[in-house]
Amino acid sequence: MMFCPKCLCEKTIVNKTIKTPNTNERYRQCLECKYTFITIEAIRTDRYWLEYAEYTLDSNKKEDKRQGKFSFEQ
Ligand SMILES: [Zn+2]
Repeated sequence: MMFCPKCLCEKTIVNKTIKTPNTNERYRQCLECKYTFITIEAIRTDRYWLEYAEYTLDSNKKEDKRQGKFSFEQ
């Protein structure tokens, strides 16, 4: 369940769901105050894999970025 961001009521309905390969967006409406809002459901990834995915997608175009991008030294 999702709380209404306006009145914090817990009773909401889903009017529409938009699915993409990585996310589900849900158009919700509060049954109490009729406020509409959008929620997003996505796979949680850690920062390393997010950067890895960006790096992989970018690597064809941007050869010069190969150096140093993955030096996480914290
Ligand atoms: Zn509400």
